[in-house]
Amino acid sequence: MDPGQKKQELQKIAQEVERCQQCPLFKRANRGVSGEGNPDARMMFIGEGPGYYEDQKGIPFCGLAGKLLDELLDSIELDRKEVFIGNVVKHRPPDNRDPLPTEIEACRPWLDKQIEIIKPEIIVTLGRFSMAKFLPEAKISRVHGQPQSIEFQGRKVTIMPLYHPAAGLRREEILDDLKTDFLKLGELLKASPQSESSREQLSLV
Ligand code: URA
Repeated sequence: MDPGQKKQELQKIAQEVERCQQCPLFKRANRGVSGEGNPDARMMFIGEGPGYYEDQKGIPFCGLAGKLLDELLDSIELDRKEVFIGNVVKHRPPDNRDPLPTEIEACRPWLDKQIEIIKPEIIVTLGRFSMAKFLPEAKISRVHGQPQSIEFQGRKVTIMPLYHPAAGLRREEILDDLKTDFLKLGELLKASPQSESSREQLSLV
């Protein structure tokens, strides 16, 4: 699929997410927040679910946690337009409570379709709900910042488990871990086979 077709397919998903009633979360939410960014991204970020501001605007990570995410992206010279940012659940859980297993399961087809369309090389999980989708046995305090190679949808994908930025806003030591882990993410991206510099080293360009 070329980037134009990917964009169209993702737009279709966004329209369907707005109408989705597969779980009760839609009843108290203002908007469906399907995700945004580069349809052809090499790196996809997956958070937990929309909060207050995301639910008002329909944009993922546009509140305080999003501001921190933008700063962390900036620290590795990336803009949010270059990556794709989505969530495990697409409607806001009331009062920002944790999403329930039934809600995550009801929303799973949307996220799976997004991953299938974008085909990212690296999936960055933000927080434990998103990590559990790919690394169900992992404990975030043990594995954060350690990339893991897995098979997903019949492809090899690198999962980079990170703490959720909202946790970094609450605790200084988690913020320090997030900053260090982001630098590792920058290195990972540079080292991956599709990066400009590794293509140059391999004389592929
Ligand atoms: N927290 C999330 O997990 N996702 C958002 O989009 C915003 C805050």
